[in-house]
Amino acid sequence: MLDAEEGWDVLIAETLKARYLHEGEKSWEDICERVARAIATTEEEYLEFKDLMVRKIFVPSSPTLMNAGTELGQLAACFVVPVEDSVEEIFDALKTAALIQKTGGGTGFNFSKVRPKGSQAFCVDGVASGPLSFMRLFNEATEVIKQFGRRRGANIGILDVSHDDIIPFIRAKHVEGSFRNFNISVMVPDAFIRLVEAGSTETVWNPRTGATVGDIFSEIVEGIWKNGEPGVLFYDRINRDNFTPKLGDITATNPCGEEPLLPYESCNLGSINLSLFVANGKINWESLRETAGKAVRFLDNEIDINVYPVPEIGEATRKTRKIGLGVMGFHDLLLKLGLPYDSPETIEIAEKLMGQISRAAVRESRKLAAEKEPFPEYESSTWELPMRNAALTAIAPTGTISILAGCSAGIEPVFSWVYRRAHTVGKEFMLVHPLFEAHFKPVLSEPDYGRLLEHVYTHGTLQDIKDPKIVNENEKRLFRSALDINWKNHIDVQATFQRHCHAGISKTINMPADARKEDIEKALIYAWKQGLKGLTIYRTGSRQHVVLNLKKSE
Ligand code: UDP
Repeated sequence: MLDAEEGWDVLIAETLKARYLHEGEKSWEDICERVARAIATTEEEYLEFKDLMVRKIFVPSSPTLMNAGTELGQLAACFVVPVEDSVEEIFDALKTAALIQKTGGGTGFNFSKVRPKGSQAFCVDGVASGPLSFMRLFNEATEVIKQFGRRRGANIGILDVSHDDIIPFIRAKHVEGSFRNFNISVMVPDAFIRLVEAGSTETVWNPRTGATVGDIFSEIVEGIWKNGEPGVLFYDRINRDNFTPKLGDITATNPCGEEPLLPYESCNLGSINLSLFVANGKINWESLRETAGKAVRFLDNEIDINVYPVPEIGEATRKTRKIGLGVMGFHDLLLKLGLPYDSPETIEIAEKLMGQISRAAVRESRKLAAEKEPFPEYESSTWELPMRNAALTAIAPTGTISILAGCSAGIEPVFSWVYRRAHTVGKEFMLVHPLFEAHFKPVLSEPDYGRLLEHVYTHGTLQDIKDPKIVNENEKRLFRSALDINWKNHIDVQATFQRHCHAGISKTINMPADARKEDIEKALIYAWKQGLKGLTIYRTGSRQHVVLNLKKSE
């Protein structure tokens, strides 16, 4: 096994080579140079942006790293494409999605306008094939396009819980491997969850099909229990944070759920690496606020230079100028502060961190509005003072950029302190978390450290190690990873960050393999009550193919 530093270096080098380095570029600094040059409007901005990126304090998301300063020039990661109910419009949407995915963007669709399977079709005497049949086309298109892209396109298919085809939709991914380029999510209004909460499972929810609240809810729970899908999106909660309601309701999000967007809107993302703001057990708040301000400027500039895949996307995006400033390295920050992920202090810190970032971002957006002009739809928006951007904050998964930055992803707890990682380029890496290594390696003998690594690699946890000479109780408290943390704590952390996010949050709520369906029911209701805009639950072992993994069983 490689040691932590070596393992990360190999992974970073491979990732840069596979995706981000262009001809003539050799290093991360070269990428930062190209990106900062493309996005800055003044020499001062260029120096600031480059410095933030080189030090990995703020990293824009993959499409920006791949395409800024290149001919492609498409910088956004998130898109929502409307799907209407005619063959022509559906194939228009398919083409738009293909053009987006060619540039590394992810696409979200709500298929609810498509008439149900078996109803009167578009042509005389025909029978409609329903949303699922069209979703299959989108899935195939992604399959083809990923063969020539640097990053494979991701999709989310959304269906309203009131659609007649909701049950086949929920079952669409029961066979592992089907719709492999799609996440699926059900959009539910408060009225539905209220009935669930009240135990009114016998109430007929859809008079056309006769499906009761219980029929549908138990399908959702069953699907999640079986393989982690569907995700659930809370329609009313999402639309309470629709800052431009006059432009219409929000019915879809991007693939990982952090950006609820209007039809044709796109959003470019970037994340602040929180772990770098801790020194000697203290958070540097001043520096964090300053960074958030610069990051807003960075992301706002992108909107003007972005090369949009189709004109409708350019128009919709420029009307609201939404950006997605988020964070990564949250768990690393906690480790540096000596705080377990599931402690009350963690909630306080999360509240303060995201509150400060969000307020600093709003201040900067106001400054930009005064300097340049407010976003064009500002007058019709719910903002009371001029803003440059209708929405500023969102927390992305940071799946790749957190690797480049060498920190824990988004606001997720570390998956395991030692793990095997399947990489997109086909290689596998064994990685030790650097803060875990830094803590244990110096205090343990070489054989004991070896035993610790082997144990965590095999079992995914250090909680069951009996020998106090290897791991003491305090260390067990601090080094709790994703699977050691109760689902309620996962949701509490997500809810805390959500209170300070304009858009949404991408996060997985982990449950152990022996979690019961009732746990999933409780988690869905609890998440809704805590104000989440949506959630993804994953029960350990319910899928065979996962990106992060422990040691292969012999
Ligand atoms: N995304 C995509 N394909 C991928 C991964 C991500 O299209 O393989 C999109 C998707 O909309 C997602 C967003 O990019 O929500 C951000 O993902 P992430 O933060 O993991 O991207 P990174 O910038 O780390 O590559």
